[in-house]
Amino acid sequence: MEAAESKTLNFIEQIIEEDLASQKNGDLICTRFPPEPNGYLHIGHAKSICLNFGLGQKYHGKTNLRFDDTNPSKEEDKYVKAIVEDVKWLGFNWDGDIKYTSDYFNQLYQWAIEFIKKGLAYVDDQKSEEISLQRGTPQKPGIMSPFRSRTIEENLELFERMYKGEFPDGSRVLRAKADMSSPNMQLRDPVMYRIMHSTHHRTGDLWCIYPMYDFAHGQSDYIEGITHSICTLEFENHRPLYNWYLDKIADSKKVRPQQIEFARLNLSYTVMSKRKLLQLVEEGNVSGWDDPRMPTISGLRRRGYTPESIRNFSERIGVAKRDNIIDVGLLEFSLREHLNKIAPRVMAVLDPVKLIITNYPKDKTEFIELENNPEDLSSGTRELPFGREIYIEREDFLEDPPKKFFRLGPQREVRLKGAYIIKCEDFKKDSEGKIAEVYCSYDPETKSGTGISRKVKGTLHWVSAPQAIDAEIRIYDRLFSVEDTAADKDIDFKELINPNSLQIINHCKLEPSLASAKPEDKFQFQRMGYFCVDKDSTKEKLVFNRTVPLKDGWNKTNIIANV
Ligand code: ATP
Ligand code: MG
Repeated sequence: MEAAESKTLNFIEQIIEEDLASQKNGDLICTRFPPEPNGYLHIGHAKSICLNFGLGQKYHGKTNLRFDDTNPSKEEDKYVKAIVEDVKWLGFNWDGDIKYTSDYFNQLYQWAIEFIKKGLAYVDDQKSEEISLQRGTPQKPGIMSPFRSRTIEENLELFERMYKGEFPDGSRVLRAKADMSSPNMQLRDPVMYRIMHSTHHRTGDLWCIYPMYDFAHGQSDYIEGITHSICTLEFENHRPLYNWYLDKIADSKKVRPQQIEFARLNLSYTVMSKRKLLQLVEEGNVSGWDDPRMPTISGLRRRGYTPESIRNFSERIGVAKRDNIIDVGLLEFSLREHLNKIAPRVMAVLDPVKLIITNYPKDKTEFIELENNPEDLSSGTRELPFGREIYIEREDFLEDPPKKFFRLGPQREVRLKGAYIIKCEDFKKDSEGKIAEVYCSYDPETKSGTGISRKVKGTLHWVSAPQAIDAEIRIYDRLFSVEDTAADKDIDFKELINPNSLQIINHCKLEPSLASAKPEDKFQFQRMGYFCVDKDSTKEKLVFNRTVPLKDGWNKTNIIANV
């Protein structure tokens, strides 16, 4: 029993369960999600959110939301707001107040002074280029800075003057006196503080020196009593430094956080770095961070994704130790699975052609009752008007159809969904040779549910013409043309953009029940896919996004490449 259960645990859960068993931190489990407010969150962050908050829930622990705001030149309050909104939308609640690394600036500064007093830090007057040249290579030990042997008093005085704003940006840094010959480059006297005269989104102009990520992160974890500090693999070689700093400050009676790395999520046909996403936004390749083609949480939301589908996807892909690329089809599979359960079925004709039922009375309108969702009988039924003039999908009629075409063609019969069997008697073309109107007769004896039932090969969706409402529909394709946008390092990712990722169709015809649909409402347009009302939609002009087509494009190979 025990063994069977532990088999299904991922490696992080295993670590946590071992720690609980050995009572390393008693019964405490505390994780955190630490975004930098320098852009919008993407689906990779969603993975990290689901993982961290999921572990907090599973082990009855706590999860903090902490903004890692140590670089005021790139960070903004608007990003804080967007991130908070995204985490909430995904369905997670953080413990207590939102935390900020900037809450700890004072404590970090005090620790830096202690480091100096213990001879563990020094002010280096060199420029960052010189410092990185002296760092050496993993094979070659670094060269010690000429300022490394400064006295404690001199360091204290210079650091205070840095703090007071006496020196320009980049003129000095505070460095840890660690190990210039360590095989781990991170330990070669890393920078702890830099000078940056830049207004911070929370602390304003109070500070002009800011701690580096490495000097701030572990300490913030420690201050908050984080037990398991989960981050992505690129921080693996920072772990010795994370521990080096903690060794110097941690009180053995307090919880000591443990850094654990997992593989970041990469998705096919997209890019997943905030820097690149920002570039797409700034250079106008997309309409904004929430463009429905973006892999951002706000983009996915606008496209019609549900939080449940993203959480299920995150659960499905699991936690890996090696980098890989996940097929975006798996994300779409999770979405379809959820939308199939919850999305009301409606009829919408994207490329309409008029169909006239010649033997149907001119002034008659009848009402057809249709199920809202066969997957959810509690969703009830609705009534749709039906009459002599309707719209059908242009591709559902062929002048000269092949044998296997089970839709409409001259002298062929089909059923209109929920209504009657009709037979095509004739059609008319316009001056360009396009089909302008299709003429049919209907058999009044064949009404769905009540009339006689005859076998016909196809069932078409339709919308009654006089009551139809017009809509704009936006159809999206992949934003990039290749699966692995990072495969060729020599190609700029922007050259891989799919030039046809957005197609706008106007004058689509929708059933009248959609007149009251609101942004983010989701529907299955029968036979056409899942669609969601866009935020650009107004009373005067309805706008829908196609969320996903109906067909499952997931080919069961969910990892397409190990990289
Ligand atoms: P990016 O590299 O995409 O710009 P980042 O890592 O700089 O993102 P942060 O705001 O620092 O962004 O990330 C917050 C948290 O989300 C970190 O713990 C980070 O490890 C995690 N994270 C970022 N990208 C991914 C990803 N693709 N998959 C899983 N977790 C991720
Ligand atoms: Mg980062």
